[in-house]
Amino acid sequence: MPDLTDMAAKNLKIAILSGKGGTGKTLLSVNLASAAIDSVYVDCDVEEPNGHLFFKPKWNIETEISVKIPQVDPHKCDGCKRCVEFCKFNALAYINGKLKIFDDVCHSCGGCQIICPQRAITEKDRAVGTLSIGDSEGVHVLSGMMKTGIALGIPVINELLSQCGSFEDERPIFIDCPPGSSCIVMESIKDADYCLLAAEPTMFGKHDLEMVWSLVELFKKRHSVVINKCVDQSDPTEEFCNENGIKILEKIPFDVELGTLNSNGRIAARESKKYRDLFSSLLEKIYREVSHEAAVDSER
Ligand code: SF4
Ligand code: SF4
Repeated sequence: MPDLTDMAAKNLKIAILSGKGGTGKTLLSVNLASAAIDSVYVDCDVEEPNGHLFFKPKWNIETEISVKIPQVDPHKCDGCKRCVEFCKFNALAYINGKLKIFDDVCHSCGGCQIICPQRAITEKDRAVGTLSIGDSEGVHVLSGMMKTGIALGIPVINELLSQCGSFEDERPIFIDCPPGSSCIVMESIKDADYCLLAAEPTMFGKHDLEMVWSLVELFKKRHSVVINKCVDQSDPTEEFCNENGIKILEKIPFDVELGTLNSNGRIAARESKKYRDLFSSLLEKIYREVSHEAAVDSER
């Protein structure tokens, strides 16, 4: 079985996801990244990033993220509509003698520029979000945010994840995914080595878990579940996991102190030995899971 520190040193990517917000996804992400000490935390919840509120990093880099979108020179365009027919995303329309470009649905593939026989199309930059990179007590913090009014999260997430490889030192990477199971979640987990599903012990929690579980199954991602805010009563989420053979890696009890620290924007693993031990133990379980599954894979 590979050594645990080896696994951590190989830029192991752990995605933390949940069917909806408020299940403890960010709590797990920031505390695991803090327990790992030398780590990278990536906030892919680009519609509403909040990991930085816990880490309070000193930002070293703050930059704009942009994509290329087409622009047309009406003097060169002869209205042949080849670009309109080519665009599979319906981002172009020829209306009243003019080429209309719908920026929000353009996927920046560049195809229309190539196909235009009149060379009437060129590209321009369109700002879609911001990227911030900073440090907080040994954790590299990366946070992305979509620009208000722009519905393009994927380029922001791609830029965030591509920046992970820019660190010279090799550290485990914790990806705090957007809630739900939409395309921006798929983008966030696509390169993950392991997925941790945060869930709550209720009927709604079971339903939310079902959604993200279907997603990680679809992507054939190794995964396990952490049930948060557990109380001493029957738990539909746990029953669902047991019925479907889903490993429950941890059951975190309902804990007023932990909830208070979290709602005050404090990182429990940094505040007390009790929580540091809890999240270090969870981290070790994740490493063991990955090591075990890697060993099983190598024997196949
Ligand atoms: S392909 Fe070029 S010339 Fe034809 S409609 Fe599009 S922009 Fe105009
Ligand atoms: S760049 Fe691609 S997606 Fe965007 S308008 Fe042109 S063909 Fe359509």
